[in-house]
Amino acid sequence: MNETAATPIRVTPPYNRLGLDYHNIPPRKIAGLITDAHTHAHNVDLTRAFLRAADDYSIGRIWTMAPLEDVDAMQAAFPGRFEFIAIPKWQELSSQASFIDDWLRRLDGFRAKGSRLMKFHAAPGTQKRMGMDLDHPQLQRVMKHAWNLGFHFMTHVGDPKDWFGPDKKYKPSDGHKSFAEQFAMLDRMLEQYPGRTHLGAHMGGSVEVLDALGDRLDRFAHYRIDSSATKWMVRGIAQQPVPRVREFFIRYQQRILFGSDLVVGDKYNYDHYASRYWVHQQLWETSYDGPSPIEDPDAPGGVAALKGLNLPASVLERIYRTNAEEFFNP
Ligand SMILES: [Zn+2]
Repeated sequence: MNETAATPIRVTPPYNRLGLDYHNIPPRKIAGLITDAHTHAHNVDLTRAFLRAADDYSIGRIWTMAPLEDVDAMQAAFPGRFEFIAIPKWQELSSQASFIDDWLRRLDGFRAKGSRLMKFHAAPGTQKRMGMDLDHPQLQRVMKHAWNLGFHFMTHVGDPKDWFGPDKKYKPSDGHKSFAEQFAMLDRMLEQYPGRTHLGAHMGGSVEVLDALGDRLDRFAHYRIDSSATKWMVRGIAQQPVPRVREFFIRYQQRILFGSDLVVGDKYNYDHYASRYWVHQQLWETSYDGPSPIEDPDAPGGVAALKGLNLPASVLERIYRTNAEEFFNP
């Protein structure tokens, strides 16, 4: 007799280890709508499903990296809701002149549709696949073209600190720069274009090393950072003393924009989207101290500790709204 057959196996989805009801939205610490300055919403139908969760969690304006081909349909379906961040055709990523030429044409196209911000993805893996980093003459060409069109800049530099090292994802022997070395090219770009606002995705890639990040923010008045990448932020914050991180957010409250990094796709459901907003809410607004409901293969045992910063309402006001509103007119 197979006794286990009678026992229902509880399948825990990776976005809800704790069996939470994400439709039961915790009260917000401040009223009003929040701007999510970092998403990958695209495709009208898929975005509609995503917006059900975004609406429930008080997300208003959304900045997204959608392909140029999706912009008209998104603008027609969701008038005024989205800010479109100009991106290249990632699927054809290379250092070939044809990819760069296409990127320049896309910048023209995005600009004509009202885009004001353009993004360089310079994570270690992308640098390797492109065969280029931010110093490469071809990317410098893209930068100058974007500058001439009036774009502000966004960069993804670095990746979680734990991914760097001889036994890690980014081995020096595979030609990757070290964690610390990622940022030299960013500093050069910040020096080169002081006249435009520059948004560093994922806490500028440096949530684990806040001293260096604070130093960069002090040196470059036009540098801003977003709080996106849920699992990375949760891990990065929990591994440091909460008062230290909280103090950083209060000190740099005018420089941080709320972002989720939610990617829209047909494999994702309401609970997946809502889980990210739920966790961010705990992280910024509460003193939550317990396991994260989101499974995290990079955390010890796959379970990350979630430690809330319980930021003051006035700081949330800036991070959730004002900094995004002021971004294009600093
Ligand atoms: Zn992203």
